[in-house]
Amino acid sequence: MAFRRSGIYKTADELRRLVGPGLLTAASLDAVQAAVRSGVSTIELDAVAEAAIRDGGGEPNFMLVPGYRHTVCASVGDEVVHGIPGSRVLAPGDLVSVDSGAQLDGWNGDSARTFVLDDVDRPDIVAERRRLNEVTEQSLWHGIAALASASHLNEVGGAIEDYIDAQGDYGIIEDYTGHGIGRSMHEDPPVFNYRVRGRGPAVRPGLVIAIEPMVTTGGIDTVTHDDGWTVSTRDGSLAAHWEHSIAVHEGGIWVLTAHDGGAAGLAPLGVTPVPIA
Ligand code: MG
Ligand code: MG
Repeated sequence: MAFRRSGIYKTADELRRLVGPGLLTAASLDAVQAAVRSGVSTIELDAVAEAAIRDGGGEPNFMLVPGYRHTVCASVGDEVVHGIPGSRVLAPGDLVSVDSGAQLDGWNGDSARTFVLDDVDRPDIVAERRRLNEVTEQSLWHGIAALASASHLNEVGGAIEDYIDAQGDYGIIEDYTGHGIGRSMHEDPPVFNYRVRGRGPAVRPGLVIAIEPMVTTGGIDTVTHDDGWTVSTRDGSLAAHWEHSIAVHEGGIWVLTAHDGGAAGLAPLGVTPVPIA
């Protein structure tokens, strides 16, 4: 992933412009969430996400990535990220990660959710996959909560790693990271999902980042398919992926891609998001 280098701190006015695309990105994933079930193809999920974004006056920003022609990435089972929507029909018990983004008036949102479909014949497998999914989503909220009080950005990855390590035998993918977001979907700085050397940039008003942990039930090595996009775990273990775009502003933090600014997800962690004035 190429990062476009620019000043990483946005102005208060620029932060306000990021609210709309964040909400539109959330709406596209709401549409996917309402549509996802066994019997649906991943290209159908792509269509409902695209309709939601265009109905809101936006444009799917993944289509602005050279060579990519879809609104979402849909990554099933051992696929980690960047799965291309297609004729694959989801089956009972499938785990599917859907990543979406909207551009509105030149500004971007980026968010991902993972879904585990019911399978009445295999409750143990479904429970195991839901546990992976829950650990991954909660690792994101722990990273966001850390951002609220961090002095430097790399505290986020430390918090994500500490949470996941305490949950059992899970792997944190290191080949892909979160990123800054603004006029481009992918900007500096990289946002690690694990502890790294160095503190990273200062966390202060104007910082806008996408945090996106990718967690597996096995190893952390990945392989890219011959399609040039789809990334899977090398060992075939399952992977889940959650992502939000978050703004740091004068009043606190605000999760741009959550309708409530992240209030529900952050409440158990003692953090209250503050709307951007
Ligand atoms: Mg994304
Ligand atoms: Mg992203």
